[in-house]
This record gives sequence, structure tokens and C-alpha cells, in this order.
Amino acid sequence: MSNEIKEQIKNALILQKEIFGDVLFENTQSLTQILEELASNSLTQPPPQPIKQEVAPNIISTPNVVNEKPMKAKKKDTQWSGSKSIEELYNYIHNCENCALSKTRNKLVFGTGNPEAKLMIIGEGPGADEDEQGLPFVGRAGKLLTDILKAINFSREEVFIANIVKCRPPGNRVPASEEMEECIPYLHKQIELIKPKFILCLGSTSGQAILETKGTLGSMRQKTFEKFGATVLVTYHPAALLRNPNWKKDTWEDVKMLRTLYNQTFPGENK
Ligand code: SF4
Repeated sequence: MSNEIKEQIKNALILQKEIFGDVLFENTQSLTQILEELASNSLTQPPPQPIKQEVAPNIISTPNVVNEKPMKAKKKDTQWSGSKSIEELYNYIHNCENCALSKTRNKLVFGTGNPEAKLMIIGEGPGADEDEQGLPFVGRAGKLLTDILKAINFSREEVFIANIVKCRPPGNRVPASEEMEECIPYLHKQIELIKPKFILCLGSTSGQAILETKGTLGSMRQKTFEKFGATVLVTYHPAALLRNPNWKKDTWEDVKMLRTLYNQTFPGENK
């Protein structure tokens, strides 16, 4: 095995360990042992650099795609529902004031990524960093999401990332049901326009809202659901993983399942 390949394997294992802990090889060697063996096996390459957070290009970032004269969403305006593209939808709704969250937000977080993505990632709602930047998943939880996607060979550029509500609930509280009811038609429209084949819901709020159920996260995980012409899977929200790293192992099982199903659906993209 060439040093270059050994180095690639080593970097992949380090990434796995950083995200999911030393649990992938629990019945054989620990990841630490494998890394030590690789290191002692005449590796001459320099040590890997710390993993940097990838900043996704703003394919559908907020202000760059607006028309010169943006269409302003009036209260209860439904013109947006006839949008023919993600950009047009953004232009209609980016000033939305349809629920109380508009009064406390800094920036509406529309969503970002590939408008033709085969995989959509859906979280609960923007946090403080997202509210500040107008982009989804850009804080610590966002870095973890980027690393999780990377571990199953997805880049942020190829997926589309959005939330159930587009404005930050104060204090990061769970969005109220009336806020979700008011906002989720926009997400449904995004799904209609993007036409993903897979949807990964992050956290119970996202899973319940997308699947229209009151089920617990445990009852939704490790299952597939068909909705909006897509296969829907549910796993932990990265913010929850930051609070409780013990859930990373289950998350790894969930995202591996997603990758396997994706590869079966798109064998030409098998990674
Ligand atoms: S959360 Fe949704 S419905 Fe409420 S103001 Fe923001 S975009 Fe409009």
C-alpha cells in the first residue's frame, strides 16, 4: 500500500473518530490502535492538518439572487405559491412578516445549497449564528453537520439545507405550532421546486413536522418514510449531539443507512 493511500485512510479514520468517537470498531481494534499502527508503519508523510470547516458557497444565498426590485411579501400574500424557481420564491418571501418571529429576527434564513439537490437536509429553525448571517447551520452545530455529511461523502454544495421555520425563535426555543403552520408551506414549496429524492430530518421537531406525526425521535429513526415523492429519514439534530455525544453512534448508523439507500437509488454515484 502506498504512503499516499495510507495517508488517505488515516485522514478518513481521524475524521470518523472526531465525529463519531471511537465506536466504529468496537468489536475489533479501537480506532486509536489502528491509527497508531498506521503511524508506526513507515508513514513518512507530514501529520494531517486539522480539519477546517468548509464554507458552502452561497448557491441560493440570501441577497445575491434578488431582483433589482424585489417582490415584497404582503401579509397572507400567496403569490409566492406560483413561484417557478427557488430564486423567485426567495424574492417573494424574504420580507415575510406572517408570524411573530419576524419581529425578533435579524435575518430570515431561507436555505442554501443546490437547487437541484437529490438530498435535502431539514433542521428545526435558525439559531443565533444563522440569524446573524442569514444562512442555515453555520455555527458549531453547522460544522458538525458539515463533517457528518463529509463522512458519508456528501458536500454541502450538493445538498440543499433548510429549516422548518425560517426565522429564529427567541432564545432558541422550539417553534410554536402556529409559527410552524405559518412557515412550513414555504418549505413545502421548496421541496416541490427542488424535487429531492431523499430528505434527512434533523431532530424530532423536523421529523414530526415533515411526517405530520407526534412520534418520538426513537420511533422515527432507522425507518424510511415516503413523502413528497422522496424517501424521508430522521436522525438527531447536530446541536443535540453537541450536548450529548453518546448519540453520535446512533447518528452514524442513521447516516450510513441514508448513504446505502442513496447508492442503491443512484448506483452511478456510488461513493
Ligand atoms: S418564520 Fe416563516 S412565516 Fe414566520 S415570519 Fe419568518 S418566514 Fe414568515
